[in-house]
Amino acid sequence: MKTIDPLSVSSVYGPVLSWRVGWSLGVDLICETSFCSFNCIYCQLGNIQEHVYERKLFVPTEKVMADLRESDWKKSDIITFSGSGEPTLALNIGEAIVQMKDFTGKPTLILTNGTTLGDPQVREEILPCDKVFVKIDAATEKTFQRVNRPVESFSLQNIIEWTLQFKEEYHGYLGVQCMFMPVNLKEAEALADILIRIGPDEVQLNTPKRPYPDDWYLPSRGSHDGVPYPAKPLKVITQGEADGVEELLREKTGLNIVSVYQ
Ligand code: SF4
Repeated sequence: MKTIDPLSVSSVYGPVLSWRVGWSLGVDLICETSFCSFNCIYCQLGNIQEHVYERKLFVPTEKVMADLRESDWKKSDIITFSGSGEPTLALNIGEAIVQMKDFTGKPTLILTNGTTLGDPQVREEILPCDKVFVKIDAATEKTFQRVNRPVESFSLQNIIEWTLQFKEEYHGYLGVQCMFMPVNLKEAEALADILIRIGPDEVQLNTPKRPYPDDWYLPSRGSHDGVPYPAKPLKVITQGEADGVEELLREKTGLNIVSVYQ
């Protein structure tokens, strides 16, 4: 497994321009390796090095705050917890959210795969975050297992139920991100029913425009345009297919749909 000393690099990167939230300052509470409870077939981090469900401390909050102070944080619109895997697996996420908001006065966002939302402790820790975007890419268990490749114990039903539970307690802005590829395109209609059930503030329609690295490289956490490491392009959906899904989801759900192709 490829690892680096998380104290030897900055846990804060960017800001990078995101189509969803503007100038986004990335915060990586993991850094050490790629660490996630999913191993999505399209992950910009490549094949996940530590495919586990375990919460631990990687980068102490004092180091994260020191990295923040040295970054270009003033240029950002929002502070995004994402980085080298599932950010809520970092034990200090709650502390980091509060301290970053206090220091910068900027809104905060978490990109999560939803696997920790069944844990009341995690739900409580992330309540202060202004926006939470949960990933839901499949409408059937089979496609969920094929696309997201979760650690053994997780099912799509878990993610849906836990997202609903979180929504009951959360007063911030809830988004659902749907990554479409040819493999799950046919599930768009069934996915609409799940989205109606969840009723998020926003649904994001995306396709994997970032290539899939041959190995884990720290810069892959923030790569948007071009990558300085070996990587393969992935099968994306076309503009026409994206427009069709967007129209279908908008008509069927009545929800606020935003698309990477807009
Ligand atoms: S949930 Fe995110 S970090 Fe984890 S494997 Fe999927 S895309 Fe990568």
